[in-house]
Amino acid sequence: MFKQVDWNERLIFSLGRKGRRGHVPPKVEERTKQIVGDVNLLIPENMQRKSQLKLPELSEVEVVRHFTRLSQMNYGVDSGLYPLGSCTMKYNPKINELLANLPAINMLHPYQDEGTVQGILEILCKLERWLAEITGTHEVCLQPAAGAHGEFLGTLLMRAYHKLKGEIEKRREIIVPDSAHGTNPASAAMAGFNVVVVPSDEDGCVSIEALKAAVSRRTAGLMLTNPNTLGIFEKNIEEIARIVHEAGGLLYYDGANLNAILGKARPGDMGFDIVHMNIHKTFGTPHGGGGPGAGPVGVSEELAKFLPVPRIVFDGERYHLDYDRPHTIGKMRSFYGNVAVLLKAYAYILSLGFEGLKEVAEVSVLNANYLAKKLEEIKGLTLPYGSEKPRKHECVLSAKHLKGDTGVSALNVAKRLLDYGLHAPTIYFPLIVDEALMIEPTETFEKEELDRFVEAMREICEEAYTNPEVVLKAPHNTAVSRLDEVKASHPRTMALSWRMYRKKNEQNL
Ligand SMILES: *Cc1c(COP(=O)(O)O)cnc(C)c1O
Repeated sequence: MFKQVDWNERLIFSLGRKGRRGHVPPKVEERTKQIVGDVNLLIPENMQRKSQLKLPELSEVEVVRHFTRLSQMNYGVDSGLYPLGSCTMKYNPKINELLANLPAINMLHPYQDEGTVQGILEILCKLERWLAEITGTHEVCLQPAAGAHGEFLGTLLMRAYHKLKGEIEKRREIIVPDSAHGTNPASAAMAGFNVVVVPSDEDGCVSIEALKAAVSRRTAGLMLTNPNTLGIFEKNIEEIARIVHEAGGLLYYDGANLNAILGKARPGDMGFDIVHMNIHKTFGTPHGGGGPGAGPVGVSEELAKFLPVPRIVFDGERYHLDYDRPHTIGKMRSFYGNVAVLLKAYAYILSLGFEGLKEVAEVSVLNANYLAKKLEEIKGLTLPYGSEKPRKHECVLSAKHLKGDTGVSALNVAKRLLDYGLHAPTIYFPLIVDEALMIEPTETFEKEELDRFVEAMREICEEAYTNPEVVLKAPHNTAVSRLDEVKASHPRTMALSWRMYRKKNEQNL
């Protein structure tokens, strides 16, 4: 069985000793003087920092050891399977990191004159075209920094569209299915809309009856994930699009997880007007821990005039930044978005090509269905919403019976998986499945790794029936065991900086 390394590693601040050094570079003033002359001429006296920075002082090897030890007490997608449902944690090829870090690229400055950054503008412009092709949309904007940010842009575009039609006072509602990701209703609310929830039917799809009842002249639009968060493709998508369009609403596609449909189906062809995609899930950038990511948004021809500025345009010879868009909603983010992340997507798409992207979709769907079938055979687990129906990129199992029989919950199963050196799946989402275990294997794990996961799940469920205490108290083999989740996120105990940590310690918290 797996055993995680457990160093008793102190904070780097308490490891430092005054005067300890790694490299000793030439004195800053001397270097600066050599290059630019007197520093006082560059930075006015009153703006120069006089106080010490209070950074910990360590030798190079101390720094390397500290962070290597911390990394050994961690788990990442480079360590093994990371089956986070709805989060597409795939292995990201290192070549993309390499390309995004070439000096020709990472030495660029966003304030450079557009005449000197033609290369990067060409790359971004091409990426926009490729993402438009993949999603079947007319124009793509790369600015949003995350999926939720893309959703927010999408709902602002809905506002702009209805406002220009003179209907924004009437159209106050955005419809969201009960299986939606929590960011959907949040984005709708942030753009000032009221959220109307429609239930799923027994197939796990949007209930057409309920949708018809919810749609009215107050409808601004519908936000939908397809395949939905159960991993099931909305078979009535064309009818859904017709119902919403006939009522004068727009269709928003939550494309955070595009894995299942890459090169196979396009939201634009299904009738969607606005699409966001998560570069940091589908297109070659790792995520977690808060970023950085990118959530580009594609729109239909009719909505393109509302997109944020600047738009990158090509006049046949040179690329320009176009700010002259009378209907634009303004700016979403500084400059052009998270360019390094977008570059990785460019490299990812270029290296795979169209056939490669299709293969990503095929293998990720195959892997999800393989796991769904194998896991559903395990005593205690079921596959709600029809086990005969194919899943797309992910599957959602329920540990409801396991909990009823043994008291062991989805949370306990997830914690026990850590003892096997496997990352836990997403749990308790979507909300419509009791004791949900939401599993997305992606295309980047071999069959052996998937089998290891199935075997671990089988052993854990058996253990729940024979020796539940072990599962209830898991994990046992990790550097830290059960965290106090309330304490970890409570403002009274949270310490986000060394200064806060010291202050709280002085107060004996
Ligand atoms: C991850 C995700 C989002 C939000 O994306 P962020 O980049 O985390 O803001 C939205 N919808 C779905 C379905 C997702 O999986």
